[in-house]
Amino acid sequence: SRVDNPYAGAKVYVNPEWKAHAAAETGGSRIANQPTGVWLDRTAAINGVNGGMGLRDHLDAALAQKGSDELVVQLVIYNLPGRDCSALASNGELGPTEIDKYKTQYIDPIAAILKDTKYAGLRIVTTVEIDSLPNLVTNVTPRATATANCDTMKANGNYQKGVGYALNKLGDAPNVYNYIDAGHHGWLGWDDNFAPSAALFKEAATTEGATVADVHGFIVNTANYSATKEDHFTINDTVNGASVRTSKWIDWNRYVDEQSYAQAMRAQLVSIGFPSGIGMLIDTSRNGWGGTARPTAAGPTTTVDTYVDGGRYDRRIHPGNWCNQSGAGLGERPQAAPAAGIDAYVWMKPPGESDGSSTAIPNDEGKGFDRMCDPTYTGNPRNNNNMSGALPNAPLSGRWFSAQFQELMKNAYPAL
Ligand code: BGC
Repeated sequence: SRVDNPYAGAKVYVNPEWKAHAAAETGGSRIANQPTGVWLDRTAAINGVNGGMGLRDHLDAALAQKGSDELVVQLVIYNLPGRDCSALASNGELGPTEIDKYKTQYIDPIAAILKDTKYAGLRIVTTVEIDSLPNLVTNVTPRATATANCDTMKANGNYQKGVGYALNKLGDAPNVYNYIDAGHHGWLGWDDNFAPSAALFKEAATTEGATVADVHGFIVNTANYSATKEDHFTINDTVNGASVRTSKWIDWNRYVDEQSYAQAMRAQLVSIGFPSGIGMLIDTSRNGWGGTARPTAAGPTTTVDTYVDGGRYDRRIHPGNWCNQSGAGLGERPQAAPAAGIDAYVWMKPPGESDGSSTAIPNDEGKGFDRMCDPTYTGNPRNNNNMSGALPNAPLSGRWFSAQFQELMKNAYPAL
């Protein structure tokens, strides 16, 4: 009973809690009615944190928004044991071995609610476990980018088990559409990472009772800043005989942007046995890179570096930078079927919610302090030892960050 593209012909749920934050900001009413992801980022989020809306509250509100139309609700499943193994800012409540708690206290209760026939008329999109499986490919021994926590999670297999269990149980409801997280081009676009990541997604999707039929598609760029389309160069360009792949920015990657990466990853996934109908989502919440610094033409053809750096929209210091990026703007507004193989542009990361605190802040959520969120940090092997590019004075990940929200609106592309 699932449709090919759940976003086609459907409205998308506006989270009233995000809407209230946005609407309270100067100028925020311009985007307050945009749909954003609902993050189930801890067990308590199922019933609502500190009197906030729980999952049933959201689904009930979604039914009211739906009326007699079709409506998509976007949920983010985000609570794996040993979560966020390559970073600290979004470490969670479950330790590396707590896979049973993940199953019985987190996934089972969510699955039970989603199966309630009261909600059968909603199209429920679940994006499953952001930033988990790719870490087991790129941030493990013997890579220079390895972390101890990712080595632990690779050794115990609990990411694959958790993702497989989630796909299997959530997929029992015929109106649930599972999308697995597939990183972004600036992470998995290299040959060493691309096919091995697809293979790992298949492994996870065929464990703990899951099958590839439980997978409706994949999401890329979640909470990241990679541009959807770079218009001023392609991967096939050369400058004075040198491929742009030799530029510092591209650094031998096969892709220069998210749309080309998503389409290629889709083809790779189908080629190894995922259903031919899978569709991709691109999180465009913060990858607009508009404003006065946006290049309007290709860079000068002096060298590959002047050409790429002068033309690129993505103005990060390094594509490995991920926390509260300075200069970022809202990207494409959420929309269905924008390109071949792409089910939708979505705002899965709610704009204005922090990626992590700039300094250590005590908390009871398991969140750590990651210096990639500190603007004075000079980096680590995962961003090739560059400055972090993070905005100052950020609150804990997930908390409202007014200054960032204002900058995202200012640098929106398309402009507001
Ligand atoms: C945080 C979550 C939050 C999500 C959306 C993540 O980085 O760890 O707590 O819900 O971002 O803002």
